[in-house]
Amino acid sequence: MGSSEKKRILLASCSVDLVAELGRALGPDVRLLTLSKEDTLSREVVHGVDLVIMDLSDDDAVALRIAQFITEGSPSCMVFHVGNSEPSEEVRLNYPEIRPLPIPVDHSYLRGVIDSANHDRARIRSLSSEKSRIRLLYDLSSALLKVTSHRHIAKALEETLPQILDASMILLTFPTRTVPIGYFYTAEGVGELKMKALRTHLEDAWDVLRPDAKVRWEWINSLGNGRPGRNEHRLRATSFTTAPISIGSETEGFLTFLPMREHGHDEGFLQTFFVLADLLSVLVHNLRLKERLEQRATHDGLTGLLNRQTLIEQLERECRRSQRYQTPVSVVMLDIDHFKRVNDEHGHQAGDEALRRTADIIRRSIREMDIAGRCGGEEFVVVLPNTELEGAMIWAQRLRVLIETVELAHGDIKFYITASMGVAHATGTSSITDSMIARADAALYEAKNQGRNRVVAAREAL
Ligand code: GH3
Ligand code: MG
Ligand code: MG
Repeated sequence: MGSSEKKRILLASCSVDLVAELGRALGPDVRLLTLSKEDTLSREVVHGVDLVIMDLSDDDAVALRIAQFITEGSPSCMVFHVGNSEPSEEVRLNYPEIRPLPIPVDHSYLRGVIDSANHDRARIRSLSSEKSRIRLLYDLSSALLKVTSHRHIAKALEETLPQILDASMILLTFPTRTVPIGYFYTAEGVGELKMKALRTHLEDAWDVLRPDAKVRWEWINSLGNGRPGRNEHRLRATSFTTAPISIGSETEGFLTFLPMREHGHDEGFLQTFFVLADLLSVLVHNLRLKERLEQRATHDGLTGLLNRQTLIEQLERECRRSQRYQTPVSVVMLDIDHFKRVNDEHGHQAGDEALRRTADIIRRSIREMDIAGRCGGEEFVVVLPNTELEGAMIWAQRLRVLIETVELAHGDIKFYITASMGVAHATGTSSITDSMIARADAALYEAKNQGRNRVVAAREAL
């Protein structure tokens, strides 16, 4: 595109003298295509032409065909006729846009015509690129409506985003519930930003885009089964536009767009960019709401551990795994001792604090495979997959010591708590969820009876 491109002018059926005259009038910065009456006229010749000047003196068969090709292929092209005779009625009726060009040719008039022809063509082109952008945006929004996770957003954007924005780079950052995450899109492909902390503030977008910033990134295909490709990428920003991905006062992330150098901040791109940011805002917001609902439905609000129902479901899964693969599984049931007293002596809030701290201690003591939940007031259950009774007892004893050693505080009040635990274990056929829970519960009852602050192993299943 751009005005530096030479205008193409087709001279059809013009005499040698006329071609010479028009050539002088048009000046050097045009491309002249001449076509004699005998030349075969094809669509390809006419396509992309800015201006057609034809001589209709003898015959308008050529004129008709040119006019036809022009209307089909290059609607922004202007068509003039020269010569003594007027176009035939057929030409005039069907192609009223063919205008007469006075001879001798007025140089400045012709220049004006060419400039406007060029302008029209650029406008038509930008309209059609606008149209295809809207089309892409539409396709993208359809694809985005199907996504169910933040990572899917990145995938859905992978193909269309670079086409829509014609940017040298697009950066999308949004923190998920647990990890700050970012993606960037370049001509080379899509990368996942792996950053220590990608906060959601605008300064951080600046930070990422500092001229000397170097981010380590992994190709997005690492999300599939392929081995992740790694690359060190230097982001060089001269100017960029950032739109917050936000609904109301909550900012969920940022979409940052670095234009191609030659385009600058083209108005068309910017509009598309803002529409896209709005679209992503709604989408990310919905995903966040969904995440929160899921979190609320599966987790305990006070401690953040799994709730009873989810824990039982996970235990059932582990029991099925144990039966199928004949692997051991252990369950530890924990109850805080004399918890009623904690509430009575220090207040309900101190009791809540004790519950949160106990949950923290449990969370920090377990392995990644282990499953912990709060199953009642001051009762916790931990599932230890692939763990024999001996291992589970050692773990529970260590936890018991940790709990009794940690000093709890609520305001000025300092206090300690202890806990009793029952441990049940099973392998293969004996790993039945209900019976494991019942046996762990019975062992816990036994621990309470024996004087509390202790761990008791359940009897083996029959
Ligand atoms: P034991 O050693 O026999 O387990 O005695 P205990 O006092 O711990 O047991 P009990 O079942 O008699 O009392 C449990 C108390 O836990 C009663 C209840 O008020 C308290 N509780 C239950 N849920 C919460 C909670 O969410 N926050 C607080 N602060 N207290 C709770
Ligand atoms: Mg208790
Ligand atoms: Mg209890």
